[in-house]
Amino acid sequence: MKVNFDKSNQDLVAAARKVAQSLQEAGYEALFAGGCVRDALCGRALKDVDIATSALPEQVEQLFAGRTVSIGKSFGVILVLEGKYQFDVASFRSDGAYVNGRHPEKIHFCCAEEDSLRRDFTINGLFSEPHSGRVIDYVGGLDDLKRGVVRAIGCAQDRFEEDSLRMLRAVRFASVMQFEIEQETWQAVCRMSSKISRVSIERITNEVVRMICEAPKPSIALNMLRESGMLAEFLPEVLSLYGVAQPPQFHPEGDVWTHTCMMLDGVEAPRDPILALGILFHDIGKPSTYSYGPHPKSGEVRIRFMGHADVGVPMTGKILTRLKLPNALIDAVKELVGHHMRFIDAQKMRKSTLRRLLGLENIDNLLILNKQDTLCSNGDLSGWEFLVDQYNGFQSEPALPPPLVNGKTLMQWGMKPGPKMGKLLKKLYNAQLEGDISSLEEAKKFCGM
Ligand code: ATP
Ligand code: MG
Repeated sequence: MKVNFDKSNQDLVAAARKVAQSLQEAGYEALFAGGCVRDALCGRALKDVDIATSALPEQVEQLFAGRTVSIGKSFGVILVLEGKYQFDVASFRSDGAYVNGRHPEKIHFCCAEEDSLRRDFTINGLFSEPHSGRVIDYVGGLDDLKRGVVRAIGCAQDRFEEDSLRMLRAVRFASVMQFEIEQETWQAVCRMSSKISRVSIERITNEVVRMICEAPKPSIALNMLRESGMLAEFLPEVLSLYGVAQPPQFHPEGDVWTHTCMMLDGVEAPRDPILALGILFHDIGKPSTYSYGPHPKSGEVRIRFMGHADVGVPMTGKILTRLKLPNALIDAVKELVGHHMRFIDAQKMRKSTLRRLLGLENIDNLLILNKQDTLCSNGDLSGWEFLVDQYNGFQSEPALPPPLVNGKTLMQWGMKPGPKMGKLLKKLYNAQLEGDISSLEEAKKFCGM
């Protein structure tokens, strides 16, 4: 079996081959390893190429003197710079006993076969010869790749005991590649799910964000996380969406969990993380605002979630801070959560209110979210279509133009700075957004001058 790198970035592959060739010419073995072999065999674009070698870290450093970074030297990995690329060159190694469910205490250097056995899944345990492309498979990875199976190398339970992050990687590979998790591997994930809390939150977050952004159907990932028990460990608030009933006249699709899953599946991958997280959290305020009873005015009896968007904003902030996501991303997701119900009233809005909505930083993502929210519930797109029409109308001019009048202008007109001036500026800007004033002359008149 040969792997064909022709579909990949040719410059990247050529640079990786050059590094491998230098190693081989110095008398060492050098192979492409792991994810890059897997992805090339599946016809996926390569993000990077990892090189595994019989050379020891010191020998790699010596050979590529002046263009190495010894960032992972303690576990046998040297970064080699080649042109505009950099490659992880990892000495064949086998991991000693693990501590804390995450790191091996010691490693020892070994041959390619033993190196393949320390890798997590058979589909990730493949090597290929850099030039001929011949695949070297010590773990049955080719068969599993063909069948679409994620299978732990060796005893799944032991492998997850060593490093619990692998349980999340299993779910990520299965959902992103649309593979099945082999039965014993899956049962081990379910048995050991509570151990995921031993893994640092940054690594958990990275895996989960990748699942919801890269999987063709994130619902598969989310249901695996829920069924295995892992979701309860790091995102109990999202798990709480499960089983929360909604009024069937607005949500024939079912509970909040189903609705959220359908929305994620409805957006094609790869998804912007702001949008993916925005969808995941848009109804996070629903479980705690659930009520059933008559409406205070109309008397209509049904399920309601009064103020769930507002409740969802601080909840989202708290959870995403706990997940250690960057503040700018958190703010953007909060914007989507907080404004996700507003499109419903768009047709009744004053012009200035509508323009402020359309002027939101994340309006593009909000429109996608709103569309999915509608399609995955009652399907009535009229409110959404109105908003999109308005949005398109503002493509030649910004929804929120620079103010016609600023403080300096008001001072030139003889006004003194102070709270009164602030209030007047706000009124002036509103009038501008409403279309009531469009020149300085009109603004002056508006101010009674
Ligand atoms: P991707 O880059 O898409 O996340 P990948 O398989 O390349 O997928 P990397 O984290 O880049 O993942 O790791 C490269 C290789 O190192 C993997 O293919 C696998 O062989 C091995 N590996 C990575 N993480 C682990 C782990 N936690 N346990 C065992 N082997 C691992
Ligand atoms: Mg990789």
